[in-house]
Amino acid sequence: MSNSPNAFELLKKKLSHLLPEFEIREKAKLVEEINALKKKKNAVILGHNYMEPALFHGVSDFTGDSLELCRQAEKAECERIVFCGVEFMAETAKIINPEKKVLLPSKKAGCSLASSISADDVRALKKRYPGVPVVSYINTYADVKAETDVCCTSGNAAHIVSQLPSDQVIFIPDEYLARNVAKETGKEIIFPDLSAPKEALPSDKLFISWPGKCEVHEQFTLLDIQRARAQVQDVIVLAHPECPPEVVAASDFSGSTSAMIRYVKENPAAQYLLLTECAMADNIIADAPEGEVLRLCSIRCPHMAQITLEDTLEALVEDRYEIQLDAFMMDRARDSITRMLQMSSN
Ligand code: 13P
Ligand code: SF4
Repeated sequence: MSNSPNAFELLKKKLSHLLPEFEIREKAKLVEEINALKKKKNAVILGHNYMEPALFHGVSDFTGDSLELCRQAEKAECERIVFCGVEFMAETAKIINPEKKVLLPSKKAGCSLASSISADDVRALKKRYPGVPVVSYINTYADVKAETDVCCTSGNAAHIVSQLPSDQVIFIPDEYLARNVAKETGKEIIFPDLSAPKEALPSDKLFISWPGKCEVHEQFTLLDIQRARAQVQDVIVLAHPECPPEVVAASDFSGSTSAMIRYVKENPAAQYLLLTECAMADNIIADAPEGEVLRLCSIRCPHMAQITLEDTLEALVEDRYEIQLDAFMMDRARDSITRMLQMSSN
């Protein structure tokens, strides 16, 4: 729909259950402007699954989870990539396309996980555990990726870990993703105190991890699930793997944002409870699933919400905000992303 001659009609079809007509009309004007400028400037817009529905359905050439958008960024044929997502995602697109202009529509689109660990922290972990491979969640900044052997996303973490030649893995920075993947791959887990002397390792099959948290997913609780199950008979609960382990364990399905979208499409049910950023449910509903999608909209990602249609238009008009990274750092970081893409294609 991104190059539609009649954005209003198409947006109305997708969003009339969500927004009043006057608001759809206003958004449609912006959508048309963005799509026209996108063509003129030879740009591709990549939209994460958490983008607000008009942005997601109206201007994104490709939508998806972190892994899918990374793959799309790798094959994008254009001069510019406008990344409608958060900074670490735009950085990833730049690292794998150093010759392209990569624009992020807001300077405030950070991520609590990415800012939970520094390159110095990773160097300290590597010094303490020499030879142990470092797997970094893609929700990290370029300097951390440059210290990493292989990246992973929520869509391929267990698959990547299971292919490593070592039973011990430095898996950073998301504590809950690490706990969930450790459980799935049969590992014990420790969170080393780097200011204390080196501890005896409890097991050969081990994750050495880090206490980073997603400020959104850490808020979902077992009680949320228990309440939903008490009130809504046969509700299907879906939780992102950045949620606490007890929440993931009590859910019916856990997977990346795209895996959750696919699950809803492929498993018809009367009601679903989605434990992830609230905007994603709007995007699922706009594609009209059979069932009702329940969510907790008091819990939002303030970073993803920074990306608006207005700022996306400004990004194209002003060529802003361009991702600029040190070339040597990008070369080192690229290896960890390329390795992930190779390891997740088999
Ligand atoms: P996905 O890769 O599952 O889309 O997750 C990205 C993210 O930031 C979730 O909070
Ligand atoms: Fe980061 Fe969490 Fe927002 Fe995803 S939802 S971008 S992990 S803060």
